[in-house]
Amino acid sequence: MTLEQIKENIARLHNELPAGVKLVAVSKFHPLEALMAAYDAGQRIFGESRAQEIGPKHTSMPGDVEWHFIGHLQSNKVRQIVPYVSLIHSIDSERLLQCVDAEARRVGRTVDVLLQLHVAREETKYGFTLDECRALVDGGVAGSLANVRIRGVMGMATNTDDEAEIRREFHEIRSTYEQLKASHFADNQWFDTVSMGMSHDYRIAVDEGSTMVRIGTTIFGEREY
Ligand SMILES: *Cc1c(COP(=O)(O)O)cnc(C)c1O
Repeated sequence: MTLEQIKENIARLHNELPAGVKLVAVSKFHPLEALMAAYDAGQRIFGESRAQEIGPKHTSMPGDVEWHFIGHLQSNKVRQIVPYVSLIHSIDSERLLQCVDAEARRVGRTVDVLLQLHVAREETKYGFTLDECRALVDGGVAGSLANVRIRGVMGMATNTDDEAEIRREFHEIRSTYEQLKASHFADNQWFDTVSMGMSHDYRIAVDEGSTMVRIGTTIFGEREY
């Protein structure tokens, strides 16, 4: 994509997405000039999936950018990202949640997080099963950790052309969010986020109640790994 095309893509998505659906521009592997083009078109939330990219990009970009971590997070990388991130989408174990809480306390921050749900057919995707997720919140973890705030859930659908399957999985993510909200977060107005939908399936995700889409390729083009 040229920088002009990136700006057009951001403008088109801002125009297309309904009010109440936030756009995370997934900028992993893309250079600063691509991010700046998106920024100039009004984009302020950027998503990265490699811990080592967040610090340098944070330092080089304007201060009003919100950084989200969306990829699989290892405990030994938590320290690298906690000073910079406003939302971690990919909490997939209680141990990781506790690790983020401890590190956030150490640096005097509170970090917003999402619980990643595993609904896809692929075994390679990380995340809690619905039962594990329920067990986690039943254990009272949400109230006991002072430096993380659980804002909602995140999930990925199976990578397939079967639209009905994708729709069913997004429906399951949204309905798990609704159940958790009713059972444990009814009084927390900040439990408001359902992160689902990527370049190839975000329209279905929005249809099924996404409040946050994570889009990379449609904005920036193919990544060069
Ligand atoms: C890379 C990535 C995306 C963006 O994928 P695209 O297909 O490029 O839109 C979204 N979510 C997660 C978790 C990712 O790792």
